[in-house]
Amino acid sequence: MGVSAIQVAGVVKSFGEGEAKVTALKEVALEVFFGEMLYIVGPSGSGKTTLLSVLSGILRPDAGSVVLEGVDIWKLGSNDLAALRLNKIGFVFQEFSLFPNMTVRENLEYAGGDKKTVAELLGLVELENLAERYPDTLSGGQKQRVALARALARSPEILLLDEPFSTLDPAMKTKLQDEILRIQERYPVTTILVSHDLAEIYRLSSRVITVESGKITGDGDPQKILTSRETSHKFAFTGRIIDIRKNDIVYTALIAAGNTISEVVLSAADVRDLRPGDQVVASTKAFQPMIRKLRQ
Ligand code: ADP
Ligand code: MG
Repeated sequence: MGVSAIQVAGVVKSFGEGEAKVTALKEVALEVFFGEMLYIVGPSGSGKTTLLSVLSGILRPDAGSVVLEGVDIWKLGSNDLAALRLNKIGFVFQEFSLFPNMTVRENLEYAGGDKKTVAELLGLVELENLAERYPDTLSGGQKQRVALARALARSPEILLLDEPFSTLDPAMKTKLQDEILRIQERYPVTTILVSHDLAEIYRLSSRVITVESGKITGDGDPQKILTSRETSHKFAFTGRIIDIRKNDIVYTALIAAGNTISEVVLSAADVRDLRPGDQVVASTKAFQPMIRKLRQ
């Protein structure tokens, strides 16, 4: 198990009032260990981003505690909380929250990177040429790379990453995943990530929790959580491809799992390595279905 890094207890968070009230987190309890690569998976709207926001000191819960190094961060005054966010926590959120009035370089320097570190990080995410640009002149993928570089600028103790690779092309995705693994080997950073990308989760995770309707419904090693139908059928299922059909520009894979057959619509690139008979994990990423071949 190891050394405890974060203890979460009884966390409740609701949005809205009366009829419109949504309880996004329902008494969430979680212990995260030092150096873990913990993935949070679950359907859209299940509370993953809300949980990450509460852990990052950005969103105050209605009840419960988040303890880092013996300190309940939600009992800190606002100055201490801001200092903790800056000094100990690196985060990447889906909306990228870069400072719009600062250039790429200034965003990284503001996050605490010295000149040398900032230059290295710009090289890592291949944005040297865009260092003097402002965020609103960048593409989504470029902003995501700046956000990742910024999260790493101060060698955080805790990294919180909400779908950090989702808008990157495959080569950049692999490169930055490798970098996260490399950082993790050099000095273990407690890292909590949200992703729908099964290949990424298999590659990087040391532990996976599933979240459904504001509750943690599964917790364990990746293989067990992602392939067991009891705990993850809403997120993913395993099955065997029985046919692949081409209609117009898309393909439909028929997948037999238990006593049901599901149709999954895929692109030509998706089906390239798939054949009838393959054992696969089917899942959804946002509204996009995806299939991953299991090792045989
Ligand atoms: P996920 O990241 O798993 O997709 P979220 O944590 O973003 O889910 O959302 C959980 C629930 O809380 C959803 O029902 C969502 O609509 C609601 N929610 C999240 N943020 C807000 C907000 N700022 N105002 C109102 N409702 C919100
Ligand atoms: Mg989310």
